[in-house]
This record gives sequence, C-alpha cells and structure tokens, in this order.
Amino acid sequence: MDLALSEEQEAVRRLAEDFVAREVAPHATAWDRAEEVDRGIVKKLGAVGFLGLTIPEEYGGSGGDHLAYCLVTEELGRGDSSVRGIVSVSLGLVAKTIASWGSEEQKRTWLPRLASGEALGCFGLTEPGTGSDAGNLATRAVRDGGDYVVNGTKMFITNGTWADVVLLFARTNDTPGHKGVSAFLVPADTPGLTRRPVHGKLGLRGQATAELVLEDVRVPADAMLGPEGKGFAVAMSALAKGRMSVAAGCVGIARAALDAALRYAGERGQFGKPIASYQLVQELISDISVDVEAARLLTWRVADLIDRGRDFATAASQAKLYASEAAVRAANNALQVFGGYGYIDEYPVGKLVRDARVMTLYEGTSQIQKLIIGRALTGVSAF
Ligand code: FAD
Repeated sequence: MDLALSEEQEAVRRLAEDFVAREVAPHATAWDRAEEVDRGIVKKLGAVGFLGLTIPEEYGGSGGDHLAYCLVTEELGRGDSSVRGIVSVSLGLVAKTIASWGSEEQKRTWLPRLASGEALGCFGLTEPGTGSDAGNLATRAVRDGGDYVVNGTKMFITNGTWADVVLLFARTNDTPGHKGVSAFLVPADTPGLTRRPVHGKLGLRGQATAELVLEDVRVPADAMLGPEGKGFAVAMSALAKGRMSVAAGCVGIARAALDAALRYAGERGQFGKPIASYQLVQELISDISVDVEAARLLTWRVADLIDRGRDFATAASQAKLYASEAAVRAANNALQVFGGYGYIDEYPVGKLVRDARVMTLYEGTSQIQKLIIGRALTGVSAF
C-alpha cells in the first residue's frame, strides 16, 4: 500500500479542506442547534464534485478513486458529520449502488442528477421491527400487471425528508429471511409515500432523518434495481463500501477532537501553567492522536483494496468497527481536556461526542461488525 498521496489526491484533499473551512465549519454549531443543515449545501457539494466522486464521468460523475473519496469524507466529517452523512448516503449508498447494479437506463436517469446535487438519494432498509436483522424486513412489494404495489414502513432514513429518490428494499416473495428481498428505485414524490421527520436525535441533529410510510405505492417493474430476489445482496454490497465512508468520517471526528484539544490545552491555564504541560493531559491528547492515525490507516487500507479490485468486506468491517469506537473515545478524551467547558455547546467537543456516538450503531452496530469479522475468520456464522 502506497501511503503517499498522488498530486490529484492531494488536490482533492485541499479542495475539501477549503470547502469545509468556507461552507461547513462556520455553520456547524448553528445547524446543530437549529436541527437543520442549510439545504443549499447539497447543490454546493454537487458543484464541487463531491457527490459524484468515483462515479464515471460518462454518467456525470467526477471520477476519482476510493482514497480520494476517503480524503473528502474525512474533511467533511471533521467539519460537520451531518454534512458528511449527506454525501455518504446519497453518493456512497445510493449513486454508487446504482452505478454497480443499475440498468443503462437507470444509470442515465439518476446518476447525473445525483452527482450534480440536483437530486438527493436515501437508503431505505431499516424498519421499526428489523434493524440488525435487516434481511427479515416486512415491507412487501406485490406484482400487479406491469407494476409492484408496495406497503410498509422504513425507520431512521438519513436524507429521508429531503431525498428525491429512495433506494427501497422490499419483500417480493414470502421466502423467509433475505432470499425474497428485492431493491427498487422509488421517486420520493410517488403517491402513497409519506415522510415524517425524526426529531430529538442525540447527534447528527442537522441531518434530515425520516420515517417513510408506504401505502399502496405503485412502482413500475423496471424500477427494480438488480435481479428479483437479490435485493439483500444489493444492500450488503452498498453497506460494505458505505462502511469505509463511515470510517473515514470517524477519522474526521477524531481529527477535530485532536485539533480542539490541542488548541484548548495550550490556552487554558491551571495551577499557574498551561494544562498542556501536565502529563495526564498529554496522555489524553496522545491517545487521541494514536486513534486518528490507526483509524486512518485501516480506512485507507479498505480504499486501497477496493481500488485494486481485491476483497474488501472484512477490512471494511474492521475499519468501521475500529474507527467508530476510536471516534467516540477521541471525542470523549477531548471533552475531558475541556473540563466543564466541554459540556456546553459554545465549545465544539460536546457535538463531537454526540455525533460520534451513532457511528457505532448505524450501517451495522459494533456487535454486528464483530459477527461479520468472526464469520470471515472462523467460517462459522454466529448471527
Ligand atoms: P437492533 O438491531 O434492535 O439492536 C439492538 C442491540 O442488539 C444492539 O446493541 C445490537 O448490536 C444488538 N444485537 C442485535 N442483534 C445481535 C446479535 N445477533 N448478536 C449480538 N448483538 C445483537 N437505516 C437505513 O436503512 N438507512 C439509513 O439511512 C439509516 N440512517 C440512520 C441514521 C441514524 C441517525 C440512526 C440512529 C439509524 C439509522 N439507520 C438507517 C438505522 C440503523 O442502521 C439501525 O439503527 C442499526 O442497524 C441498528 O438497528 P436497530 O436500531 O433496530 O437495533
């Protein structure tokens, strides 16, 4: 694995750093308090090419390899995880999945719009009754002539209230478990689809999270993404790559924690000296720095494996597991450096703790990542 960035990758990283400094970081606290990111950010993310990274240029994407995607995601995560999540879902879970599994017509219809930010995507897998056990979902799509009629409820859907297209997973036959699941691309304005905002989240408060209720939603048969009955494979392939993006976002959180802790420790004095001069404070800071570096290396390893066409699913679970736990630890250590001031939202570290916490829960909890890794190593499924 070559750890030196190419000129192109370094240029993308700088572009992301500048973008975040101008368009994201100055607003992050206000968006968090308002429980809404300014929606104009979607067009800006599209204009700068971040919503089309790794999507081929012939479909309106900006190209780039997976390491470039990690660099951008890390910078966005450093600025505001709510904004990072918009990209991780619309590009990482939806557009990239259409690029991998879509028909030529589906690619031409959705990819240029998703890459430019003219349209936003969301990923509808989780349901009120099925989270970790996603293959047992209950939403049903029943064939009726040239259409499917869909009924069910989806829970905690990132970008849900803003999205123009839902990558929706529904059961198309009654085979138990994941075998009867199919994927569909459903325009969000299809009659019968209602979106209810989820308020009161601990973190990622700026993000538009929704419950989706589908009542007799009629979708044409050609809206199916991938073969019938292969929807669970579509979902798992999306999530495997998605985990790299979550991990890169976690590196961003840990870096923000390091920056904040270093700055504050140099400024704050107690017992007549800057707190940075105390060994126990240095321990907190050095622990954060090790978490940044280790999480980044695991994440870049996934990008490297993907770009070389190698198996990456176990490495993606390892990176997501480690980086998400590292982000929680790093943010918590930074809060400790801030003392009581870390506990109020005039300072940035409380938000980092809240934003980091969900990373160990979504796209597979830490327990689920361990089961995936354990299955790969032992050959025995413990699910
Ligand atoms: P459960 O599955 O009920 O798990 C509860 C606990 O049991 C966890 O600790 C879990 O680790 C443990 N557990 C479950 N099964 C096992 C087992 N076999 N062995 C050991 N422990 C086990 N979903 C989407 O589809 N699209 C999205 O865009 C999306 N965005 C989200 C955004 C936010 C802010 C949140 C909070 C969630 C989002 N989710 C989304 C849903 C998320 O992926 C699920 O919450 C997650 O998969 C866990 O499911 P659950 O909440 O039902 O918990």
